[in-house]
Amino acid sequence: MLDKVLIANRGEIALRILRACKELGIKTVAVHSKADRELMHVRLADEAVCIGPAPSAQSYLNIPALISAAEVTDSSAIHPGYGFLSENANFAEQVERSGFVFIGPRAETIRLMGDKVSAIEAMKKAGVPTVPGSDGPLGDDEGDNVTIARRIGYPVIIKAAAGGGGRGMRVVHTEGHLLSAINVTRTEAHAAFGDGTVYMEKFLERPRHVEVQVLADGKGNAIHLYDRDCSLQRRHQKVLEEAPAPGIDPEARARVLEACRQACIEIDYRGAGTFEFLYEDGQFFFIEMNTRVQVEHPVTEMVTGVDIVREQLRIASGLPLSIRQEDVKVNGHAFECRINAEDPRTFMPSPGKVTLYHPPGGLGVRMDSHLYTGYTVPPHYDSLIGKLITWGDSREIALTRMRNGLDELLVEGIKTNTDLHKDLVRDGHFQQGGVNIHYLEKKLGS
Ligand code: ADP
Repeated sequence: MLDKVLIANRGEIALRILRACKELGIKTVAVHSKADRELMHVRLADEAVCIGPAPSAQSYLNIPALISAAEVTDSSAIHPGYGFLSENANFAEQVERSGFVFIGPRAETIRLMGDKVSAIEAMKKAGVPTVPGSDGPLGDDEGDNVTIARRIGYPVIIKAAAGGGGRGMRVVHTEGHLLSAINVTRTEAHAAFGDGTVYMEKFLERPRHVEVQVLADGKGNAIHLYDRDCSLQRRHQKVLEEAPAPGIDPEARARVLEACRQACIEIDYRGAGTFEFLYEDGQFFFIEMNTRVQVEHPVTEMVTGVDIVREQLRIASGLPLSIRQEDVKVNGHAFECRINAEDPRTFMPSPGKVTLYHPPGGLGVRMDSHLYTGYTVPPHYDSLIGKLITWGDSREIALTRMRNGLDELLVEGIKTNTDLHKDLVRDGHFQQGGVNIHYLEKKLGS
């Protein structure tokens, strides 16, 4: 087992990783910016190192500072969490070159999946269903591009190969707008990502977002941990997730789960990962793979009983997977509400001092949060301050527990989006299950 892990992240995920390390008897190093001295995991870690000033670019994204911190503390591995450097292939490479284990896939895998065109190509080869589209990047020939769009059928979406975070995409409804849309997306992608490569896909009009969690040990063993539904989104940001995805065609599900497992073996995947799909009319369409632990991983943990972060640490220690596919069963249902420090109506961030924090409790209730009474939420980072996760042996019970949990949760001194969640878990369509990715924005009238 790894001896000492440096946690290259902050907030709730840093605490989540710290807890998993402690359970396995692994020593921990917290790194933090000058604005984050008061974080809970910094206090709980065996060692703590300040890696720079508040702005992420000078701290959590500062590769030399992170590697130096690993050196001075004699760490054996670095866990990147999510966001920040978690999907940065250069970081993974430098970590390993400096003699530390990167807790995630190999740098080549991150690179392969970081470019959406090469990711889609690899998935097609592995038998994972993809969105009908241009086979590879679009060229400069205008006539060819018009032909491709006609073949796919309007509406189409132009996407940047290097895009991320919902940026670098443009929907085209008619041929008259096609060529200018390709040009503008290309220019924007070049400016934003330093890579002007774009491709074209069929634009699905009312899909759901359904994703598949996988684990692979890099020794030829891979398993899937079933699926999650993350269709409730605002500006491409997930708000509320559940596992398993309700009302999915059983045959299509079985096929896609097995295809994801096989794809992991084919690309020699290592660690935890997520295949993201759009699901429409009973069919799955791959859009991208995330090569890291995700914010919403707890809903899968609650229904499968598999500790995903523990498995990441075991895999990074060179151990084989501790579970076989046939032992993974879905038991009941789970929901996760992302609690953000923001105004529930305007969505403006609301940093500041938490004058009172009272998390909910009870059977099947889990609160992953770094908050405590007296903690000050700094203005420099993502507004996520916690995740309320509930489990029940039926979807209805899990949802009832979520309603009760949200009513019990108290965060005073700052604004949070708890009221938005209270409203969502009482929404008739959401209660039925299976709303599409536009539902939340339509409901909010934005
Ligand atoms: P990013 O890496 O920026 O998150 P994705 O490829 O995952 O980009 O797409 C982000 C979101 O954009 C999807 O969750 C979906 O809402 C929308 N989207 C992407 N591709 C399509 C498509 N072909 N049809 C409809 N919506 C799409």
